[in-house]
Amino acid sequence: DERVTEPQRTPEDAAEAGLRPQTLDDFTGQKASRENLSVFIAAAKARGEALDHVLLHGPPGLGKTTLAQIVARELGVGFRATSGPVIQRAGDLAAILTNLQPRDVLFIDEIHRLQPAIEEVLYPAMEDFQLDLIIGEGPAARSVRIDLSPFTLVAATTRAGLLATPLRDRFGIPLRLVFYTSEELRQIVARGAVKLGLSLTEAAAEEIARRSRGTPRIAGRLLRRVRDFALGRGEVTRDMADSALSRLEVDSRGLDAMDRRYLSRIADHHNGGPVGVETLAAALAEARDTLEDVIEPYLIQEGLVLRTSRGRMLGEEGWRHLGLVPPMPDNA
Ligand code: ADP
Repeated sequence: DERVTEPQRTPEDAAEAGLRPQTLDDFTGQKASRENLSVFIAAAKARGEALDHVLLHGPPGLGKTTLAQIVARELGVGFRATSGPVIQRAGDLAAILTNLQPRDVLFIDEIHRLQPAIEEVLYPAMEDFQLDLIIGEGPAARSVRIDLSPFTLVAATTRAGLLATPLRDRFGIPLRLVFYTSEELRQIVARGAVKLGLSLTEAAAEEIARRSRGTPRIAGRLLRRVRDFALGRGEVTRDMADSALSRLEVDSRGLDAMDRRYLSRIADHHNGGPVGVETLAAALAEARDTLEDVIEPYLIQEGLVLRTSRGRMLGEEGWRHLGLVPPMPDNA
C-alpha cells in the first residue's frame, strides 16, 4: 500500500530529478541553512580549500540530497553519492575515498546506518585525510597508511541523535532542515508546474502546497498526480486540485490514512494518551523508527501530537482534526 504522502523516496520519484533546484539562489526556504552554506562556501573558495564537512539532518524529503548536489556545484567540484547501508566493507569506502579528486564532495545518505567498523575508517579520513588499512590476514597482515585528497563529506540523516558522538563531532557545519511553510511550498509548486509545462491557478498551487505535509518531495508528487488527473482539461483550478487530492485520500491538512490511523489510535484506545511509542508502533504494525522519523515529526510540529516524558498525547489540534472533543480534565 503505497502512500502518496510517503516522504521517503520511492521508485516513482525518479521523475524528481527534473524538479531539483540547481543553485543555492534557486533553492526555496531553509533560510538559515542556506545563509550558513553560502558564507562557508565563499570562504572555502577564497582560500582554495575543501569545504568543512557538512551534516544535514531532518525528516525525509526536505532537500538534503538536493543541497548536497548544490554544494558541489557551487564549489565547482565533483560530486559522488553513496549511502550508509550500501557500504558493506571497509574496502568499499576505501575505493570511493581514494578515487576522489581534490576538494570533491562525497555525499553519504543515511549515514546513521553505517556499520561501526566502517565508521572507524571514516574518522581519520575526515580528520586528517588519511586512510589506515589492514592488508592481508593473520601473521602476514600489515597496516598501510594512504594519503587522500582533501575532500568534503556531506552526510545526511533523519535524526542527528542516531549518530555516535565522535562521528557527529567531526562535522564542522551541522545544519538542521525544517518543514517548509505553505508559502514556500506554494512557490516550489508554482515553479515545478512551470518546469512540467502545467498551467495552474494560484489558488490551485496554494491548495497543493497546503496538503504537502511541509515537504517538497510530497509537493512534487502531488503536483504530478494533479497533472495526470487534469490531463487535457486546461488550466488546473483549486477545485480540480482538490478533487484529485481527495481521491488520493490526502485530507485538507495533507494528512494521509496512516497519519489518521496514528491519531485515531491515541484517541480511541488511549483516551488521548499518554501512550508509549513502542505500544503505538506495535498496534500500528510500523517500525518505531518509521514513527519517529517519518510520521511523528510533522504531526508534532503541527500540534496534532505532543511528545511528553510519559509518552505521546493527542494535542488539541489533533482532537479537532479528528472531529472529536477532547475529554475534560478531571479537575474541570
Ligand atoms: P532528502 O534528501 O532530504 O530526502 P531531496 O533532496 O531528495 O530530499 O528532495 C526531494 C525532492 O524535493 C526533490 O525532487 C527536490 O527537487 C525537491 N526539493 C527539495 N527541496 C527543495 C527546495 N527547497 N525547492 C524546490 N524543490 C525542492
